[in-house]
Amino acid sequence: MSLASKFYVGGQWVDPIGRVTRPLINPATEAAYGEAAMGGAADIDRAVAAARSAFPTFSRTSRDQRIELLDRIVAAYARHEDELAQIIVQEVGAPIKIAKRLHVPLGRLHFEIARDTLAAFEFDAPHGAARVVLEPIGVCGLIIAWNWPLLLIGAKVAPAIAAGCTIVLKPSETAPMSSLKFAEIMHEAGVPPGVFNLVNGDGPSAGHALSSHPDVDMVSFTGSTRGGVAVAKAAADSVKRVHQELGGKSANIMLDDADFPKAVRAGVLSCYSNAGQTCAAPTRMLAPQDRLAEVEEIARATAEAMVVGDPADEATTLGPLINAAQYERVQGYLEKGLAEGARLVTGGPGRPPGLNCGYYCRPTVFSEVTPEMTIAREEIFGPALCIIPYRDEAHAIEIANATAYGLAAYVQSKDLTRANAVAEQLRAGSVHINGAALDLALPFGGYRQSGNGREHGRWGLEEYLETKAILGARG
Ligand code: NAD
Repeated sequence: MSLASKFYVGGQWVDPIGRVTRPLINPATEAAYGEAAMGGAADIDRAVAAARSAFPTFSRTSRDQRIELLDRIVAAYARHEDELAQIIVQEVGAPIKIAKRLHVPLGRLHFEIARDTLAAFEFDAPHGAARVVLEPIGVCGLIIAWNWPLLLIGAKVAPAIAAGCTIVLKPSETAPMSSLKFAEIMHEAGVPPGVFNLVNGDGPSAGHALSSHPDVDMVSFTGSTRGGVAVAKAAADSVKRVHQELGGKSANIMLDDADFPKAVRAGVLSCYSNAGQTCAAPTRMLAPQDRLAEVEEIARATAEAMVVGDPADEATTLGPLINAAQYERVQGYLEKGLAEGARLVTGGPGRPPGLNCGYYCRPTVFSEVTPEMTIAREEIFGPALCIIPYRDEAHAIEIANATAYGLAAYVQSKDLTRANAVAEQLRAGSVHINGAALDLALPFGGYRQSGNGREHGRWGLEEYLETKAILGARG
């Protein structure tokens, strides 16, 4: 059975109701390796009905039962990690080393954290003569992007299960295979029928049907700001809860006392992570005006040392972009950067030398970027760094905050008091000081057009809960 031709509904692999399919293209070779069924409103109706019928029983399972279930999911996931890594290489084009070290284990880590969070979580608290009880919100529609599929599945499915919610997952039409494999894992783990359901499809059909569905209590969306706005509008008529994890254009402030060789290099590598297709990537590097040449030189050397090529090769550090459309989009931004007067330090439009097949981009650094330029304002979602000069600390903070987004920010300084004072003034959901790594136990989410709500750890679990006051409960 080819998983790609089926959906997972009510604990079984079912045939799609319609006959729409979409080719699956390997971004490194541009060759099709199969096709996936794309569902529509009728498939979503069937999956929501399965989730709805499973909800009364699953929502009343005990904490211990759900801890045990999460443990079984972790164990089943761990048995398939090699296969998951190969899928990520094939469908996302992520270098195998990154797939093994980040994509796959981070997905599992969310389930481990959800388990520990659940074990310590207080669902029922006295308040005078009353009780305040937190309960699963209901049927959740989970819509995810293609860039870090397993990480995004974990960020949503793990807390939803911990809360006692039932789920309809709609993966990205661009990267459905990792989600299909994940559905197999859920089946193997013995997740009760109807608790987890999966329907593939694109945004305007399956995504819209899920967000607007009257029997879905919450939709959690990760993707572009454009998609997040569409989901919120579609969800409004049924007054469901909407959680949004959207785009970013995160600033990385090099304060003048930072360890430049280390911090600039780390900033460039982080910007290029997953070929620059990472929502929280530090894509705007803010450098002191009088140290611009030094920053440019470190950035140039780092970019030129990237090993661009076949993601299946262990030596590769930069794989291709996800698809032709993304390649064209990134090329458009690179052209626009030049046209609007940014100075090219390295890289630029076109394919890297010797790579004539695959959606490969040249690791690019622009300098003397001004905050008004398109490449400073819009998410490029490719391996392109913008170096923006600043006059003084206040100017750096002003530039960092002059964005419609607010997902993450980065501060580099040898003085932690100074770095903390700057961090407090940045309008972003996470601020990383001196390269502190992502911690999945901490809240993650955006200010402004980067989203609403928080995922990860305790904050992620809380998103999937309703709050009930039981008055007079204690006499
Ligand atoms: P996208 O918005 O095109 O698609 C994301 C998902 O939404 C897909 O499953 C798609 O089918 C669905 N979708 C699209 N239009 C929809 C609609 N009208 N109704 C319902 N569903 C719809 O985004 P993408 O290109 O897949 O992902 C890249 C974007 O995701 C970037 O902007 C990136 O910053 C963002 N992202 C954010 C986070 C975060 O946590 N904040 C994480 C990863 C990616």
